[in-house]
Amino acid sequence: MEAPYAILDQLEPGVARLLAHNPSAFTYFGTQTYLVGGNELAIVDPGPDLPEHLDAIERAISGRPVVAIMCTHTHRDHSPGARPLAERTGAPIVGCAPLALETVGPRADASFDGDYRADRVLADEDSIEIDGEPIVAVATPGHTSNHLCFAWDGALFSGDHVMGWSTTVVVPPDGDMAAYMQSLTKLRQRDDRIYYPAHGPAVTNPQQYTRHLLGHRMQREKQILGLVRTRPRDVPDIVANAYSGLDPRLTTAAGGSVLAHLLDLERRGLVEQQQDLWTAD
Ligand SMILES: [Zn+2]
Repeated sequence: MEAPYAILDQLEPGVARLLAHNPSAFTYFGTQTYLVGGNELAIVDPGPDLPEHLDAIERAISGRPVVAIMCTHTHRDHSPGARPLAERTGAPIVGCAPLALETVGPRADASFDGDYRADRVLADEDSIEIDGEPIVAVATPGHTSNHLCFAWDGALFSGDHVMGWSTTVVVPPDGDMAAYMQSLTKLRQRDDRIYYPAHGPAVTNPQQYTRHLLGHRMQREKQILGLVRTRPRDVPDIVANAYSGLDPRLTTAAGGSVLAHLLDLERRGLVEQQQDLWTAD
């Protein structure tokens, strides 16, 4: 199947999608950029700094005023296109906060866009107006500490917090499993009719899907705790036993998720760490 790169897909009145050409084991066919509004626009997740993707966005904007360029978070597949798009359109960058991660040392993470700067950072429930309709920030830390979803007219642009094709990668130190679970629970208290994720198809049954994701994480946590209770184990040992048929490209990510669960369990006093080994009573 040939993915529809650079082809504008009008999903409903006021919501159109463009797929960037950055497919990978983590991005599925690529990052999906959303154009929100009609007479005026917000651009959600401009994606990577790929000239042909930015050209496609500019063609889709077609001269209409861009009120804001909005990033859900600052992974490299989401935000690097923001600055060049701001230069092309004159629009401000409005949305998630920059992340101050060290470039070396334990908090270093090559997947982050360290150059991201926002003209205005939105806190939880802050909003801006597009075509007289508010687009509202929903703080959803977990995948990253600075992750926001954006709610507009019953739709939720869910970034990488909830995706249509895969479970979300939660990798410490910035990724936090307890925060991620709380952010999923937060979405359960909302009544959005559809999610538009940055990767994969739209989620048309948000309540059911979010409940399924929460159940999946609780199941995984139980499985990890069970493994550690049988004998002390390190993270690769747990990954080898907990993930059958894992795509080898995802071993590191799976290890990150396991570590995120272990750190959460440790905070709750259920496991302990001795060097590389994790133990439980
Ligand atoms: Zn991400």
